[in-house]
This record gives sequence, structure tokens and C-alpha cells, in this order.
Amino acid sequence: MSTFQAPKGTYDLTPPRSATFLAVREAISAPLRDSGYGYIETPGFENVELFARGVGESTDIVTKEMYTLTTKGGDQLALRPEGTASVLRAALEANLHKAGNLPVKLWYSGSYYRYERPQAGRYRHFSQVGAEAIGTEDPVLDAELIILADQAYRSLGLRQFRILLNSLGDKECRPVYREALQTFLRDLDLDEETRRRIEINPLRVLDDKRSDVQKQLTDAPKLRDYLCDACKAYHEEVRALITAAGVVFEDDEKLVRGLDYYTRTTFEFVHDGLGSQSAVGGGGRYDGLSEMIGGPELPSVGWALGVDRTVLALEAEGVELDLPATTSVYAVPLGEEARRVLFGVVTELRRAGIAADFAFGGRGLKGAMKSANRSGARYTLVAGERDLAEGVVQLKDMESGEQTAVPLTEAAAELAKRLG
Ligand code: AMP
Repeated sequence: MSTFQAPKGTYDLTPPRSATFLAVREAISAPLRDSGYGYIETPGFENVELFARGVGESTDIVTKEMYTLTTKGGDQLALRPEGTASVLRAALEANLHKAGNLPVKLWYSGSYYRYERPQAGRYRHFSQVGAEAIGTEDPVLDAELIILADQAYRSLGLRQFRILLNSLGDKECRPVYREALQTFLRDLDLDEETRRRIEINPLRVLDDKRSDVQKQLTDAPKLRDYLCDACKAYHEEVRALITAAGVVFEDDEKLVRGLDYYTRTTFEFVHDGLGSQSAVGGGGRYDGLSEMIGGPELPSVGWALGVDRTVLALEAEGVELDLPATTSVYAVPLGEEARRVLFGVVTELRRAGIAADFAFGGRGLKGAMKSANRSGARYTLVAGERDLAEGVVQLKDMESGEQTAVPLTEAAAELAKRLG
């Protein structure tokens, strides 16, 4: 293995592609920031216990995919595999829910870790932007989050994504369905592991991707037929609200999510250009989670969108984000004296908020102009001995190719004027 190789299942973000990742994080969070969501940041690791309780002992995430470690002090920690449990833990710890302003609306952005079998779109270190609205049961809130995710994807120029929607019922009706499903599943021809899953997390069996399993599930009892009246009415309201907002979705009664704590509204964003790892984001209501981790009753809803897969979706659709050039002015000094003088101008420009860069290392004109081109700068400043003797610098418009001599003392002001 080469020393210069990132660990298996991980990759580095390097320029220029890294700029797209930043822009995606920005685009996903913008609608949230405009809708009353406050930024929250939690540690990259938590006590294992939080995820065992909050994500669920029976999920793959906890049983197979968690990076756990014992500290020198003997604490059992885990790198966070997802965001919701940590955000809720932090909100409870800070008593945000007691400030009398429910729901507590939070957004986050960060790295997550799962020990998975790496493949295209599935990594061991990945990045999500997420949102949680804690402490309120209101279909408008569920609708708000779905609409904001849709808005985020549209603002990026994505079109080939679909929203799948389902209701998982609540603590009244879900147990009844669970039992009916278990009875049905126990009669099927399934392998040992799937049989075990029937007993601990039967809804997950519906999610099985293998076609021989799917074939046997055609006549499985449908959750929809078991929803209690309250859940039905709630779900209808969510559907009506997002329909009224013009957001297109598909009812998907087989949609269940890997985590134990979801109730009622559940949804997934899938992109059709991504092959088998088609889920770009997902979320739903998790009314029972707070109590599961030892908190008060706090019905909540949230989602997490994967940044890595969103970037892959952009690439699949051929969407080029309109990223502004990072450098507006590029300075090319010819000679020692010019180096000092132009570096002074660059510093002045930067202090005035104009993005400027410099040809370092005393390179010749040709090589330096190549770098100027590559930087995407709108203007270059070139100065040699003769220019300095005359008290001017050459200002070149990189779009028109036009070059004018500008008095050195006015160079920064002239550029500020031209760049608006
Ligand atoms: P989940 O918590 O599994 O619903 O994940 C939410 C989103 O995070 C998914 O829709 C993906 O976009 C992203 N995601 C989850 N796991 C991975 C992974 N191993 N690699 C890349 N993205 C992931």
C-alpha cells in the first residue's frame, strides 16, 4: 500500500472538485437558514450507548457498521454514524426544548462514519447536511422539511430525483401491523439471518433488495391497511400540504427506513442516475426517540441529505454549478522591485475585499500568465522595471485582452471600480 493513499472507503476532496462540495453544502443549508433553522455542531464521536439506544440495537448501523473505540480512560465511544441522535442529545443537554419556543429547529453539516462495504456512492466516511425540528407534532412541519429539501435540490439544478413517501404508523397501530407482518413472514422461505430479522425488525425485511425475497413479499400485509385514524388523517394532511406546494411525490408503501426510531411520516429522495446507491437523502418523524434516549416526550421530524451522493447526482445529470472564480485579480511581477510593489497592491486589494493572487517564485512572464489564466481571474496586473520607472502598472482585461497602463497609486481603486 502506498503511503499516499487514503484509507479504504474514503477519499479526499481536492480542488477544483472540492468547490462543488462546498457549494452543495451551501445550497442545501440555504433554505433551512432562511426558514428559522439555527446551526448546531456536535462532536464527531459520542458514547456508544447513545447510538445503541437512539439508532437501535437491531439495525445494521449499530451491529455491523459502527466504528467503536475504547479511550485510554476506558470510555466506550463511537464515531457518529448519523446525525439525529447526537443533535437530539445536544438539544436536551442544552435544554433548548425548555426555552419555550417549540419546535426547536436546527441544521447541521458534517462528517459521518460507517464501516460499510465500499462501492460507488457508498463510503466509510461521508458527509451530510441535515435538519431537525424538535418538540412539535404538526403535519405542516413535516411538509416544511420535505418542501425545503425539494427546494434545495431544485436550486442546484437537479431534476431527475423523486420523492418517495410513506407513513410508518405510531405506537398505537404499528405494533398491530408488526405482528401481522411477522405472522406472514414466518411462513416464507428465507435464510437464517432474514429469519432473525423477522423477530427483531420485521419491517426491514420489506426493504430487502434481493428479487427472490421481493417475489415472496407481493402479498405481504400493507401498513396502509393498519394505520389508525389519527395516523391516516395526519398522513393525508402532509400529502395535501406538499401537493399544494407543487412538490411531486410518489406514495411508496414499502418504504421503511433502517432506523428503529421512525414513526408516521417517512420519506426518501432517490436519484435515477446513481445505480444501486440511489438514495440521496431521507428522513421522517421520530416521535419516540427522545424517550428512547432518556428524555421527555418530544415528537420530532428531520432529514439528512448526503453531500457525496448529491455531487454524484449533479455529475450524473451533467449539471455544472455556476461557481464564481475564486480569484478576481492576478498579479504578475517582473523583477525584484516589481515583486515588492505588486505584492503591496495585492495586499491592498485583499483588504478591500477583492480576491487577489500572485505569481510566486519569480517565474517568467509566460509561465506566470498561464497561472493567471488558470486562476480564472478577470484582470491581471503586470509590472516590470520600465513600468515602475514610469509609476504605472499594466492592467489587462482577461476577457477582452485589452491592456491599459494605470498609475500605480490608482491601481487598486481602478480595479475596485471595474469589479463593481
Ligand atoms: P441514512 O441515514 O442511511 O438515511 O442516510 C442519509 C443519506 O446519507 C443517504 O441518503 C445518503 O445520501 C447518505 N449516506 C448514507 N450512508 C452513506 C455512505 N456510506 N456513503 C455515502 N453516503 C451515505
